[in-house]
Amino acid sequence: MGEGSLRVAMRDHPQGQVTEGDFLIEETARPVPGPGQALVRVRYLSLDPYMRPMMNPVRSYVEPLKPGQTMPGATVGEVVESNEDALPVGTHVACMLGWQEYGLVTKETARIVDADAADISLALHVLGMTGATAHYGLLRLGDPEPGETVVVTAASGAVGGIVGQLAKIRGCRVIGIAGGPEKCRYVKEELGFDECLDHRADDFEQRLSELTPDWVDILFENVGGPILDAILPRMNDHGRIVLCGNISDYDRDEPYGLKGLSHLLLHRVNVYSFVIADHREYWPQAIAELAGWVKDGRIRFREDIAQGGLEGAPAAFINMLTGRNFGKQLLEVAPASVDHPAGN
Ligand code: NDP
Repeated sequence: MGEGSLRVAMRDHPQGQVTEGDFLIEETARPVPGPGQALVRVRYLSLDPYMRPMMNPVRSYVEPLKPGQTMPGATVGEVVESNEDALPVGTHVACMLGWQEYGLVTKETARIVDADAADISLALHVLGMTGATAHYGLLRLGDPEPGETVVVTAASGAVGGIVGQLAKIRGCRVIGIAGGPEKCRYVKEELGFDECLDHRADDFEQRLSELTPDWVDILFENVGGPILDAILPRMNDHGRIVLCGNISDYDRDEPYGLKGLSHLLLHRVNVYSFVIADHREYWPQAIAELAGWVKDGRIRFREDIAQGGLEGAPAAFINMLTGRNFGKQLLEVAPASVDHPAGN
């Protein structure tokens, strides 16, 4: 093919809140597949909270990004050139190509996606990483019993929305926490949570107390900060916290920290922290089960697909970090090709 390919790189480590100036967008040469490789044209890029801590030069479970490096990320796209029989031209694949228009995969680095079974974008959330996160975190670590009270933060989001629905499938009473009345309405009426509280409302803490007279058995925690502090005194004795994320700290220079440590001890609460990338072997079973529930309508979700191609990635990323997304934040990098229109 031999044409160009846009990429977005981190210009430098952000100071505090990330801005569009922290990224650089440049045209690079489109890579040419070697033996056993295929060239993928990216259709959708997943924009995820974990990308923000990776921009900080601190010790973590992954190598921090260096200035000038392409932003990482999960993608789905279609094979447009191939030297690999297992990945013929027109195959849809999920792969980690990051914030760029084209990239190379092998059969080991690409997961084939059946575009006839479901929209290919689902491989980036409910039938991909965020689905596996919700499934592993709630069902494996939280292990809820029927009748238990489960609280889920960032409840309208990609992970939280699935967690609450899984808890309902397990017969729990589920309270979501989300930002604003529109998100709360969606969580309760469309996702079927029993209640949803707006964390920005003046009476948030009072309503939380009223709705948890028998305390909270499981907290599925996605945000941390003051919201976590408000929930800790409501934990049941021997309750469980599934510590999945603390997005409220990702964009801060100084971490908010954990203020309610004593509540963990007083109520003998167990905290299970995890990173789903450590549990790759779990993904296929989780995704298969979720696919069944999506098909029969028991698991619902919402996508927030930013348009405008790769140049729109920084703005869409910042929107998601500041809660302006409504559902799983994706970016449409390119429309479906004319030759291979399957899979929308
Ligand atoms: P979401 O789709 O939930 O989007 C992020 C949401 O976080 C926003 O919409 C906003 O929701 C909420 N948020 C952002 N800033 C704040 C804040 N300061 N206070 C309260 N809420 C805030 O993202 P994901 O579902 O992809 O991720 C959710 C969490 O799960 C993140 O913490 C992420 O790091 C974590 N995660 C962890 C994984 C693991 O392996 N442990 C894997 C995948 C995700 P609202 O407007 O409702 O406040």
